[in-house]
Amino acid sequence: MSEAIATGIRVQNYINGRWVESTSSEWRDVINPATAETIAQTPLTTAVEVVAAIEAADTAFRAWRCTPPEDRIQPLFKLKQLLEDHVDELGRIITQENGKTFAEGKGELRRAIENVEVACGIPMMMQGYNLEDVARGLDEMMIRQPLGVVAAITPSNFPGMIPFWFLPYAIATGNTFILKPSERVPLTMKRVFELLDQTGLPKGVVNLVNGGKVVVDALLDHPKVRAISFVGSTPIAKYVYARAGANGKRAQCQGGAKNHVIVLPDADMKMATQIINDSAFGCAGQRCLAVSVAVTIGEAQKSFRDSITEAAASLRVGNGLEEGVQMGPLITPESKSRVESLIGIGEREGAKVLLDGRNAKILKHESGNFVKPTILDEVPASSELADTEIFGPVLSLVHARDMNEALAFLERSKYGNQASLFTSSGAAARQFRYEAPAGNIGINIGVAAPMAYFPFSGWKDSFFGDMHGQGRDSIEFYTDKKVVIERWGDLHSRKF
Ligand code: NAD
Repeated sequence: MSEAIATGIRVQNYINGRWVESTSSEWRDVINPATAETIAQTPLTTAVEVVAAIEAADTAFRAWRCTPPEDRIQPLFKLKQLLEDHVDELGRIITQENGKTFAEGKGELRRAIENVEVACGIPMMMQGYNLEDVARGLDEMMIRQPLGVVAAITPSNFPGMIPFWFLPYAIATGNTFILKPSERVPLTMKRVFELLDQTGLPKGVVNLVNGGKVVVDALLDHPKVRAISFVGSTPIAKYVYARAGANGKRAQCQGGAKNHVIVLPDADMKMATQIINDSAFGCAGQRCLAVSVAVTIGEAQKSFRDSITEAAASLRVGNGLEEGVQMGPLITPESKSRVESLIGIGEREGAKVLLDGRNAKILKHESGNFVKPTILDEVPASSELADTEIFGPVLSLVHARDMNEALAFLERSKYGNQASLFTSSGAAARQFRYEAPAGNIGINIGVAAPMAYFPFSGWKDSFFGDMHGQGRDSIEFYTDKKVVIERWGDLHSRKF
């Protein structure tokens, strides 16, 4: 039995300040991807139960929206401390249900905590603006008001961080909140909501509903849910965005990715190799900001190819809870076979397999979903692999003559989540920053994940919506603007 998770847990929902067992007859096993051990069961909650959560959140909204912002952030200060106190425990749960290493699990929690910290600034950030005397005796102001019940639907690859792109901002701005985490990884949020329960938040302000499509559709269709945040694969992001829009809801939907890095010959090759190695293979390539195509220019073709192949080959793959392990397994057996099959397609279409991670054997973890780091060279632009989000530890290498030819690879991609450049030239960096068609740009950075006070700015098929998660965008997203014009008489003609 694992340290942080007792096997046999039946995950409950947290609705209206109480833990309740779902009445659903459909339950899913939660499986440790490194050991294939079943560690819990999670319900595919029914639509009727989702409505109960929405009603609870709607009732709670009436008092919560009148609670002064200064009072609304007090539970967040408590939450920050509780998260700090439980980082190790939560990090272990993340590793056990998602597979990433303990260090990576703790790393994502730091990003979660950062969002809580930033949302504590709501009394300043939520302010509107005003102007006296827009006409004689008339004053005008813009005030921000919360929307009501809002919901977030989150993916399996960051069970601890991604819900925090939304939850702290939603409630600090005065909304009430429903979270539907990925049914593959419900245990991290189960523990987080146990901590939220200790913060003194009024009942119904935060709610946790576990499940799949039925829960998502119930949230999308209910008139009392005003806004939907989604993070996951592009086809589902498009679906959620369209259905939310058809139902008149505000939506921000983050989708999949295929991130390119350009390596110029003047880059510090040692640093570039180390950083790109972590970006491509960290979290077993299951990061939406993972670099998955490296475009080398000039002499970088050979120097980078040799150094990255050596670095990737030396990564220690295994159970993320074991000391010294640098890369864990993929999330499911289906992901493993999908990634292995894509490598096979790339090979058949002409790519050279420099490092082959298929058929990985990890001692004492024969049932885990392991694929070792894989590097494919000279991937033809026409290959299915060139356009497909692999979402695994696979780095494709392609070559370009110059920056313009390299940027053309990025232009062709339907995704625009992140693009990176490694160089020591300011002029090249400026051209890249100016022209690269992606929302998050890294210059000598491998995972250009915006800090909580900046928006997570995906473009193209990596994002559907106008206002991104995090930063000032989240204030825009979670509030309605109201403009008031007031006449209280002309001071000069009044006698007191
Ligand atoms: P996913 O699309 O399978 O699932 C995401 C969420 O959608 C889950 O909560 C799931 O229950 C729900 N869902 C799944 N099928 C659904 C359906 N048919 N109808 C309604 N809801 C449905 O994604 P995943 O495998 O959990 O996560 C990996 C994907 O997420 C990758 O594509 C990755 O690039 C993307 N991602 C993007 C970002 C970003 O910031 N753009 C961040 C993290 C992950």
